[in-house]
Amino acid sequence: MIVQRGEKTIINGFVKQVRDLGKICFLIIRDINGEYQVTIKDEKLLSQAKELKDESVVRVEGKRVENPSVINGWELIPEKIEIYTIAEQPLPLNLSIKSGLDKEIDYRFLSLRIPRIASIFKIESTVNNAIQEFFNKNGFFTIHTSKIVAAATEGGANVFPILYFDKQAFLAQSPQFYKQMMMSAGFEKVIEIGPVFRAEPHHDTRHLCEYTSIDIEVSYIKSYEDIMKYLEKALQYTIKKVIKINQKELEILGIKLEIPKLPFPRITMKEAKEILKSKYNKEEEEDLDPEGERLMGSYVKETYNSDFFFLTEFPWSVAQFYHMRKKEDNNVTYRADLIYKGLEISTLAQREHRYEILLNQLKEKGLHPEEFKFYLDFFRYGVPPHGGAGLGLERIVKQMLNLENVQESTLLPRTPTHLVP
Ligand code: ATP
Ligand code: MG
Repeated sequence: MIVQRGEKTIINGFVKQVRDLGKICFLIIRDINGEYQVTIKDEKLLSQAKELKDESVVRVEGKRVENPSVINGWELIPEKIEIYTIAEQPLPLNLSIKSGLDKEIDYRFLSLRIPRIASIFKIESTVNNAIQEFFNKNGFFTIHTSKIVAAATEGGANVFPILYFDKQAFLAQSPQFYKQMMMSAGFEKVIEIGPVFRAEPHHDTRHLCEYTSIDIEVSYIKSYEDIMKYLEKALQYTIKKVIKINQKELEILGIKLEIPKLPFPRITMKEAKEILKSKYNKEEEEDLDPEGERLMGSYVKETYNSDFFFLTEFPWSVAQFYHMRKKEDNNVTYRADLIYKGLEISTLAQREHRYEILLNQLKEKGLHPEEFKFYLDFFRYGVPPHGGAGLGLERIVKQMLNLENVQESTLLPRTPTHLVP
């Protein structure tokens, strides 16, 4: 952190390197914004600098002197050095080479000092804030729903049970029911950005057991097209913000972002199956698997020059009980997925708000109404038509920055093998 106090400049940061040339010593100091050179010639300060070890934390106070041959075009000639802490040597993680992902996660506090890795999380901060800001500007209320729930949202098996005093409870896998409750409560438009938990024993590059879910829900929609419009505008807004705010970080990561053009292509599941016919022999499957998503991603890139597309009209067989079915065809729903560079980043849908139909759909999916009483009650005393979406923050950033693994855009990944730190 740099502080300017009159003529004096103060640099607080980590010692990246001590270059001791005897009568002169160069310190390279790093903070969250960059690196700075400190040039020491004073004898007393020289002996102090020689005590320093890499990654120690210091405060250096002195005068800034223009010098076109050093980083930033200036160097600090110090008058005072204060050593806050000396770093033990050797460091458990070498910060100047690429270590494996597991090791980088094991020593998160150290790997985050590497500008390449810090850049990912600085961009993630922008993405989070931009999405929040976009929806708030559009009249959405921010909510926070409980993450301790009595029943699984979808009656599914991928929940973490917890002991809640003498009862069994679960960690929430989605705020789905509560954001719908807010529609029933008349809040019209809500957004929640918060953690969700999924006991998915995957060992792949796109699943976490805890991730940051961006959830929106909107009342009085005409169709799920309204939700798609919100999402594409929000993503365009977000990418513009990242380009504006994170130029330096994008450069460090070697990423050139382009503002996506609207509208994103819409392709029905039926059309996708047709397109994939020659390249993909899984026609009997109702959903697209990751390979299908990837192939469709390349097709859309080639055909429309777009990184994004909406895959629409999912079959009822892979929909949730609360998704609304198409008026003209009971086997199709108003559910869509948003695919970014060949990976799902969002599922969105118009919800079924008519009580009797909802109840029947729930039964048709083999679920028990008594277990969903609190949810079903939202639909008995007046509820607007509504729809919404859930997006994974870490997946958006993974795709934006062409990262190989979603764990790279997760501060503290929880996976079947990672529980510490
Ligand atoms: P997938 O089919 O890829 O496992 P999903 O369809 O089960 O995902 P949804 O319930 O639709 O996921 O969740 C909405 C969004 O949340 C997804 O589009 C994705 O961006 C993100 N997401 C879902 N599950 C995970 C996970 N385990 N780890 C990270 N992000 C996730
Ligand atoms: Mg989904």
